[in-house]
Amino acid sequence: MNVEIDHHLHGNELAQTPGKSLLDFSLEELTVWLKEHGEAAYRAKQIRQWLLKKRATSFAEMKDLPAKLRQELEQEFQLFPGRIIKHQIAKDRTEKLLVELSDKQQLECVLMREPERNTICISTQVGCGMGCVFCASGMLGLKRNLKMAEILQQVLMLDRLQDSTEKITNIVVMGMGEPLANLPNLLAALEIVQSEECLGLSPRRITISTVGLPEKIRELAQTGIPYNLAISLHAPNETLRTQIVPVNKNIGIQNVMLAADQYFDVTGRRVTFEYVMLRGINDTAIHARELGLLLQDRHAHVNLIPMNSVEPLSFVEPSRKGVDEFIRILKSYGVTGTARKRKGEDIDAACGQLRLKNQQ
Ligand code: SAH
Repeated sequence: MNVEIDHHLHGNELAQTPGKSLLDFSLEELTVWLKEHGEAAYRAKQIRQWLLKKRATSFAEMKDLPAKLRQELEQEFQLFPGRIIKHQIAKDRTEKLLVELSDKQQLECVLMREPERNTICISTQVGCGMGCVFCASGMLGLKRNLKMAEILQQVLMLDRLQDSTEKITNIVVMGMGEPLANLPNLLAALEIVQSEECLGLSPRRITISTVGLPEKIRELAQTGIPYNLAISLHAPNETLRTQIVPVNKNIGIQNVMLAADQYFDVTGRRVTFEYVMLRGINDTAIHARELGLLLQDRHAHVNLIPMNSVEPLSFVEPSRKGVDEFIRILKSYGVTGTARKRKGEDIDAACGQLRLKNQQ
């Protein structure tokens, strides 16, 4: 059963007429604003600390600021460029937010709890233009890229769902959209997340998942930041991949592999290949052998994702036995494979599902 709760935490974002978002302001811009309002420059750092680190949900909480300044900020700003319009909590304590942006578009993000880690999943676009046939995010096409602050606010909103003993330990960029099609905004947001003024998270704990855009993978490698890269392969041969992942038509598996090998060479990070298992389509022993051959001499890891059902699509998840057999065959080629655990199944936590339902 879904547990839906009203959201009271972010009173400021629920204001009827949203003002400017504080998160859109850089440290420098905030400093200018403060100067114009007769305030000392060092206040900018204090404000950003409340925003990026101390989980403030209102200006009233920012007790080390003068009351007058708090009032002025409140009149002019809201904290984030979006507001939470739906907050769902699953039985396994996975939490999902649906966030409305200033142009009424919606994005989704998720917090997943495990004993040793709290992983969040964030979106980079509204909708998606890649058109993978089994995916809910692409069903309504691409609306637009998310801005830097719209990406960053997801991290901060999810951070605020945790109690004081919890912290975000991992980020997967596996929500709605193709991250590498919005790389500058994503990198700008991740840079802040990694900084000590925010979460101070290591890039080794951040995974960027892509449909496999070779040029953009090279661009990512060139940043020199050792992010984990996950590539959505989903099929071991050209014909099948183009059927399942239509953009493959103009890319081709060999180009994806070449970019993946280069990514490993430059960053030293082992690449993960994601493989959504669609019963009777790409999950047989023949496919497993073909995949084993393709990946056997690469520094690769396969992450098998059982199909999450999406209405009205008729793809079906594989049997548990089928997944085990697939992993066993991969292993015989020296390729490690693991099956992804399901989280938040009762709250439509797979990418794009909640937004799709909300719009259907
Ligand atoms: N555009 C990026 C991020 C997509 S979401 C990419 O293509 O990698 C992260 C993963 O979830 C991708 O591997 C994607 O193919 C997969 N996915 C999307 N819809 C799914 C569904 N209904 N069931 C299982 N996996 C799904």
